[in-house]
This record gives sequence, C-alpha cells and structure tokens, in this order.
Amino acid sequence: MTAKLIKGTEIREDILEEVKAEVAQIKEKHGVVPGLVTILVGENPASISYVTLKIKTANRLGFKEIQDTQSEDISEADLLALVDKYNKDEAINGILVQLPLPKHIDEKKVLNAIDPDKDVDGFHPVNVGRLMIGGKEVKFPPCTPAGIQEMIVRTGVETSGAECVVVGRSNIVGKPIANMMLQKGDGANATVTVVHTRTKDLEAHCKRADILVVAAGVPGLVKPQWIKPGACVIDVGVNRVGEKISEKTGKKIAILKGDVDFDEAKEIAGSITPVPGGVGPMTVTMLMVNTLKSLKFKLGLM
Ligand code: NAP
Repeated sequence: MTAKLIKGTEIREDILEEVKAEVAQIKEKHGVVPGLVTILVGENPASISYVTLKIKTANRLGFKEIQDTQSEDISEADLLALVDKYNKDEAINGILVQLPLPKHIDEKKVLNAIDPDKDVDGFHPVNVGRLMIGGKEVKFPPCTPAGIQEMIVRTGVETSGAECVVVGRSNIVGKPIANMMLQKGDGANATVTVVHTRTKDLEAHCKRADILVVAAGVPGLVKPQWIKPGACVIDVGVNRVGEKISEKTGKKIAILKGDVDFDEAKEIAGSITPVPGGVGPMTVTMLMVNTLKSLKFKLGLM
C-alpha cells in the first residue's frame, strides 16, 4: 500500500486563494483590509527570511503589511512602547514579534504585552486559555497546530472517535494540537494520548494511533513498524541531517529529514506528510488566516 501524500504546498495554495477572495470581498463591502505588522529586532538571517516570507505572503493576499525593523540595541521599554503603539493602531489586526529577541529583552514580557485580540500567533496566555476552553472561545489557534488540524480535515481523515497520539509536549506544537484534537467539534472529538521522553512504551502508543502527530525533533524517531496500517501520519519534525548542492540554484542547502522514517512509513500509512513540503508551508498560511479572522472579529463577521 502506498499512502496518500498530504502536500502542505498544495493545501497552502488552496487556503491562500480562499483568504485572498475573502479579503477582496471584505474590502469591497467594508472598505478595509487585514493589517499585519511584523516587528523584527536585529539582523538574524533566519529571522529576516521568516519575516520576508510573511510579508510577501501578506502582500500577495492584499493585506496592509508593515515590516517594522528595530536595531539590536533597542531597549525593552522602547520595544514595549512600540507594541503598545500597534495595539492602539486601528488599521492593525495582527502583531507579530519575530523571535528570538536579543538577550537584554524579556521575550515573555514583550509577547504578553501584545493585545490578545491582535495576538495572531496565539501564544498569549489569554489565547492559550481560550484554546483550552474550546468552541466559540477560541480566537487564534497557534499557527503550526492549526495547520496540522487543517491538513487532517482537508485530507478527509475521520477524527471523531479516532485514537490520536501526539509525540511531543511543547507549548508550540504538542500541547496545543493535543488540546485541539480532543475538543468537542468538527475536525476534533478524538481520543488523545500525548507521549514524551518519560513515556514508558512509545512504540505501543504509536501502534494504536489512527492519527499520529510527531513533533519531537529527532530524525527517524518513529519506526515504520510502529505505524498502524492505514493511519494518518503528520510529521512535524524538521531536522537538518546534512548539506547538498541545490540543482536549481547551485548553492549549498540543508538536507531535511522528519521524525518519521518516510520511505518505509509511506508503504504502511493511509496518508502521510512529506518533509519538506508537508507541515512546513502551513504555519505562515495559518498566520494569514488568523490575521483575517482578527479583522472579521472586529467587524462582527465572526
Ligand atoms: P521541542 O520544544 O524540542 O519539544 C520536543 C518534544 O518532543 C518534547 O516534549 C520532548 O519530550 C519530545 N521528545 C524528544 N525526543 C523524544 C523521544 N526520543 N521520545 C519521546 N519524546 C521525545 O520541539 P518543538 O518546538 O515542538 O518542535 C518539534 C519538531 O517540530 C522540531 O523538529 C521542529 O523543528 C519542528 N517544528 C516544525 C514546524 C513547522 O514545520 N512549521 C513548527 C514548529 C516545530 P520532553 O518534553 O520529555 O523533553
């Protein structure tokens, strides 16, 4: 059996087209577009490339976007004042502070200063609480878990009553996706188990999974024989295992591997995400969805 490939690159395009169409409709009817600001402190090359991708995507969808770049030596007080300025800016619906921040700045303090109603990353404690409560309380599910759930749903995988096993318990992936899958509602209603480094028999838990979400950051952690035949396997892991020369650009690029042994796993699973090209493209996509949602909440459309 060869699994259905769950391609994040294709699902991304479908979702972005939907967002773009909705943005155009709202603009016509209400005369406004979603506004997203990304605050970048310093010149970390990885941060610059993430921010550039976010800005490019926002532009493509017709959002108002602001890239606010600050020097590495900005004080914590000045950064907090900047966040406050955007909290009060009526044209801004989403505020994103690119991490990591320089060492002299308390990241938590800055993230917690973002208005929860503009926290499109979904990391503010208020939004974490809203996610926990579930249902209509939820405003901004964090982007990677939201992307994972979207992939599962759009692949047509039955979640209600499914055994969902999540490998990893981080605040950005494991815990929120586990919480989302156990909620009462569409695309959820699963029976969820979360496993981690202290779990006694990882293999036994994985073998029960109808939906297996792996977010450990350990290349090849999940062995093919741990996968239940026909299961939906979402591999969140992105591990650099070497370098190669790109055929396209002739430049050195990283060789990426997931947490699941893909080549063999795809012969057992019912559906599976590749790495790269699986979960990766969904994170920025869901950031755009959350920013649009923020505007819709403000306009009373949700
Ligand atoms: P993290 O904060 O390092 O958490 C990893 C989790 O996996 C921890 O809960 C850890 O357990 C568990 N774990 C590690 N090794 C394990 C093992 N041998 N057996 C069982 N559990 C194990 O990582 P993260 O931020 O969640 O990210 C996980 C992976 O997803 C990384 O490869 C990351 O690059 C990738 N990621 C991708 C995206 C994307 O594609 N958009 C977004 C976010 C993350 P303990 O808690 O017991 O230590």
